[in-house]
Amino acid sequence: MVNIPLKCPHCESQDVGKFGASAVGKQRYICRNKDCRKTFQTDYSRKGCRPQTRSDIYFLTVNGNGIRAISRILGISRSKVSSTLRGLEPELWHVNHACLESLAGKPLGGVAQSMMGRADI
Ligand SMILES: [Zn+2]
Repeated sequence: MVNIPLKCPHCESQDVGKFGASAVGKQRYICRNKDCRKTFQTDYSRKGCRPQTRSDIYFLTVNGNGIRAISRILGISRSKVSSTLRGLEPELWHVNHACLESLAGKPLGGVAQSMMGRADI
């Protein structure tokens, strides 16, 4: 039998402990790193709840896929894709900005700039 050390998916710390069970009975763990303290599971019942799904949605969006395509590719619901994208909005603003700017043919101003908080674009 081989013991694989458990790592926190957020900070890679190996200092983790048990933290009860999920609603469906899967073991939950807590990171004991003082700066992290996040909880996680090693086995998820739903694909949309896996930590990897968030980064998959990010990369598929950056590569030009829409919500329906991402939902179909990853096998998760459109509402999960949509809610995750709302959470990723600060990281994705540059994707939409570049697209809108190319459509307008000139640098965006006014509301678009103030929403992004950058006056130098
Ligand atoms: Zn951690």
